[in-house]
Amino acid sequence: MRTIEIPVLIVGGGPVGLALSNELGWRGIRHMLIEKGNGDILFPAGEGIFSRTMEHLRRWGLSKRARHHEGFPDDQPLNVVFATSLGGRAIATFSAPSNAAVQHASGDSPEGPMICPKHVFDPLLRAGAQDSGAADLRYEHELLDFVQQQGEVLATVRDNRSGQISQVRTQYLAACDGARSGVRKQLGIAYVGTFAEGHNFAVSFKAPALGPLIRQRFGHPVLQLHTVNTPHRPYFTTVDGRDWWRMSMYITQDQDPDPKAAVQEAIGTPMEIEVIRAQPWSGHRVVAQRYREGRVFLLGDAAHLRWPKGGFGANTGVGDAVDLGWKLAATLDGWGGAALLDSYEAERRPIAVRNVNEAANNRVLDGRIAADALLDEASTQGEAARREAENRIHALRLREFSTQGVQLGYRYRQSRICVSDDSLEPPDDHMVYQSSTWPGCRAPHAWLEDGRSTLDLFGRGFVLMRFDGAAAVTPFQAAAEQRGVPFCEISLASSSIASLYERRYVLVRPDGHVAWRGDELPADALTVIDRIRGA
Ligand SMILES: Cc1cc2nc3c(=O)[nH]c(=O)nc-3n(C[C@H](O)[C@H](O)[C@H](O)COP(=O)(O)OP(=O)(O)OC[C@H]3O[C@@H](n4cnc5c(N)ncnc54)[C@H](O)[C@@H]3O)c2cc1C
Repeated sequence: MRTIEIPVLIVGGGPVGLALSNELGWRGIRHMLIEKGNGDILFPAGEGIFSRTMEHLRRWGLSKRARHHEGFPDDQPLNVVFATSLGGRAIATFSAPSNAAVQHASGDSPEGPMICPKHVFDPLLRAGAQDSGAADLRYEHELLDFVQQQGEVLATVRDNRSGQISQVRTQYLAACDGARSGVRKQLGIAYVGTFAEGHNFAVSFKAPALGPLIRQRFGHPVLQLHTVNTPHRPYFTTVDGRDWWRMSMYITQDQDPDPKAAVQEAIGTPMEIEVIRAQPWSGHRVVAQRYREGRVFLLGDAAHLRWPKGGFGANTGVGDAVDLGWKLAATLDGWGGAALLDSYEAERRPIAVRNVNEAANNRVLDGRIAADALLDEASTQGEAARREAENRIHALRLREFSTQGVQLGYRYRQSRICVSDDSLEPPDDHMVYQSSTWPGCRAPHAWLEDGRSTLDLFGRGFVLMRFDGAAAVTPFQAAAEQRGVPFCEISLASSSIASLYERRYVLVRPDGHVAWRGDELPADALTVIDRIRGA
């Protein structure tokens, strides 16, 4: 049997495995990614890409390519409409600007969120990983088994085209193998939480006449159309802004709908429909008990499953990949301490709990919207019922479509590799992001005079942001050199950025989160450097 030696083996080439491949590739860490599929996208879901994910793509040099592609019209508004039915009356609209307009709509990030269809997003990540020169991507290769032994993991991998079996000797195995993760099962790590909170049926289909019909009925294109009075509450999501759609509806466990008939019934008007694929799916609210067993780590859906209500799935997984990626690189490069890899679970698992609960909550709130025949009536009572329903839908459903706090405001609370300054934790609201340099938070974005973002300063190592106006290097420099920690200091004269950063010194980690801050330099810089490198 052939043996291949590689520092890191990634199992799974979904968005999370590919994100980890980009993160490691960007850091020059050699790795292999195996994916049992051939890279074809089987079902189009996961198009809502968060600001924070776009910030990572920006660092990897991929954000411009993600924004400018033919996969989704740049200028199409991303409105979400609630109506009684497709042929019925509009009740509530959540207006959202187009991909192009949203890029700089918020002052909180250099990269606004965007809709990027999976058939564009995953291949883009694949190309980015390939371009790094550090990734060995092997499609149609499947992990069969693995064992951990002293200082390494031995993985058995089959090339599904030739049937050839190889042994991969690796220092770390990253399981990005999705909801049915064989790695998680082999480790005996259970998901905890509630399974199958609800059953659903999704259909991917083409219907060239559906977009024009929606525009004609509601006066504008939509990202999503939810129907309140149609049986099973189906909702339509545009996949490509043109003729490709996804329909999802609530069913009971014993139902097995015919896909074409279900779509026809939901549309309510005879129309040419080509079903591409249909699948039942269940909404869960679960997180893995543990994220690490020795040299093996769980990421993405292998570590957490949630309702697709808010777009938290792949985005949370990309956050896992970035957090683990710099820590693996630091460990393999020799400056990461023994506790650094342990901090992966300590930092990322609470974020998963927060996000799966947020998604579950969105589904509960959606369940409080009830069908009501009065909503379709032309009478004064019908008009009053629609106004009341509009208010109710806005109150119940806004939080799913306005998630700047979830996207940018997560923080690594009580992380052992962040140094608390005993200040009060800033608010953590799901909708509203409040910038903060509280240790563990994402360091804030501001535009620099040369047109870059403060975020463009971060990534390669630790960065000390200085607002003290002094020229001499700080004791952090010598301490970092002593431990071989990549480090630089950047002095900024801008008073507005100084006020945004809240302290005279803010030490930012390679993933852009704050490790330490203070108005005075620490008495013992080496102790701080040791703490934040996980020693
Ligand atoms: C209807 C719907 C809408 C959604 N919308 C959004 C959204 O807008 N935004 C968002 O962020 N998320 C969304 N999600 C969730 C998102 O799709 C998932 O969270 C995401 O795909 C998880 O990525 P992953 O890489 O962890 O796992 P997966 O995408 O499942 O990838 C795992 C990969 O591992 C491979 N694999 C498994 N076992 C092996 C093995 N033994 N050897 C080799 N390869 C293996 C599989 O073939 C697979 O390709 C949505 C989900 C649904 C159902």
